[in-house]
Amino acid sequence: MIEKTVSELARALSTGSVSSVELTQAFIDRITSIDTQQNSYITVDEETALRQARQADDARSRGTDTLLLGIPIAHKDLFCTQGTKTTCGSKMLKDFVSPYDATVVARLKDSGAVTLGKTNCDEFAMGSSTENSFFGPTRNPWGQNRVPGGSSGGSASAVAAGLCAMATGTDTGGSIRQPASFCGVTGLKPTYGRVSRWGMIAYASSLDVGGPLAKTAHDAAIMLNAIAGHDPKDSTSVSISTEDYTQSLDAPLTNLRIGLPRQYFSKDLDPRVATIIQETARDLEKLGATLVDIDLQKSTLSLPAYYVIAPAEASTNLSRYDGVRYGYRCDDPLDLEDMYTRSRTEGFGNEVKRRIMIGTYALCAGYYDAYYKKAQKIRRLVKQDFDNAFQNVDVILSPTSPFTAFELGAKKDPVSMYLEDVYTLGVNLAGIPGISVPAGFIDGLPIGAQLIAPDFKEGLLLNIAHQYQQNSDWHKQKPSISKGVK
Ligand code: GLN
Repeated sequence: MIEKTVSELARALSTGSVSSVELTQAFIDRITSIDTQQNSYITVDEETALRQARQADDARSRGTDTLLLGIPIAHKDLFCTQGTKTTCGSKMLKDFVSPYDATVVARLKDSGAVTLGKTNCDEFAMGSSTENSFFGPTRNPWGQNRVPGGSSGGSASAVAAGLCAMATGTDTGGSIRQPASFCGVTGLKPTYGRVSRWGMIAYASSLDVGGPLAKTAHDAAIMLNAIAGHDPKDSTSVSISTEDYTQSLDAPLTNLRIGLPRQYFSKDLDPRVATIIQETARDLEKLGATLVDIDLQKSTLSLPAYYVIAPAEASTNLSRYDGVRYGYRCDDPLDLEDMYTRSRTEGFGNEVKRRIMIGTYALCAGYYDAYYKKAQKIRRLVKQDFDNAFQNVDVILSPTSPFTAFELGAKKDPVSMYLEDVYTLGVNLAGIPGISVPAGFIDGLPIGAQLIAPDFKEGLLLNIAHQYQQNSDWHKQKPSISKGVK
């Protein structure tokens, strides 16, 4: 049962062939049996989950029958959940319990979803492997010595291993799409402002966006329906109306123009990944799309610009963790200065400290023009590059990541880790939506294809991804860890 998609589970719940309590218990049992090893979850809140499941079953017995009613999901531990810890994968917040729910959490709760718990992530979402978590790394269900990607690696691996029906993630530079690629699941990064950031703990506020990690594009559409839309509590959330994202899934792909950026298929790309993405392009062509070679001349500038802007914003966002208002406080401070210094020194991990230092440096009065301002100008050029491309094509197809999941501990130098996001960062700088869909395997490890669209075209991305999934079975493959599960 737990191997089923959300739409299948919704049917099973609706016909009464399973109850939400039974389903929730089945997921909890599975988490208990394999997650000590896999470490997808930081917190599993069994009691809350079963209470919510009972409420869902009661509501159903009174005649409520909505798609998400009683569906067990998980939240990346960056979303505030009232009454359950929200740690951000950090020692700084290891005991933090939020007094309120993030809007994304509240909306999914209002839709009837059951929250199983909170998933592991890189500390404050900084990373591409989930190895930067205070709670230890998560393992990839496709290879126990491999990373699940990051920073939403806990969510992606939990979906892949059948530890939840679907999960939320956040994407600042690729953190939904890259782990989706590594774990063989579907991950959607919505347009900036489409999903409320209220209660989603900030990393880089002008780039962060929440979105779904799911088994299929159809399931991702179901989650997006619940979480998208204006939120008066988030001044950067847009008031443009949403659509029913499940409605456009079956539209044919005729007249669709797909751009293949020459710069993304350079000689640096592993030829095996290139072959898979080219096959994906041909499969979409067979479904009626036209392929067009395009240029994204500025794409190589995305990475350096991102690694100025994101740390700059992170350094200011993380200044709130001062040992006073909330979070970790060092023992026996000598004075105020000592308390600030030691609380932050002891509470943050190395990657977070590295970003705070880079960001503070880039924002210094003397260097601001040379780094931050220049990076913002590059950001504009990257956006223009995409805008120009979308004059001639409807969507862009590219690899999600240059590689498959690498081994735990393999990337020692931070720059090699930063290069993981070379195909995803530009999308965040431009604020546009992107999706990663399972597109093949290399040596038994999944690899995703990324589709990118203009602002607010999530419906189109989900439509293409769904059509592709109707005609391929990469997304149906299961890691051996979940074989034999009913
Ligand atoms: N890997 C990128 C970083 O470390 C992106 C992270 C993210 O999207 N949250 O910043």
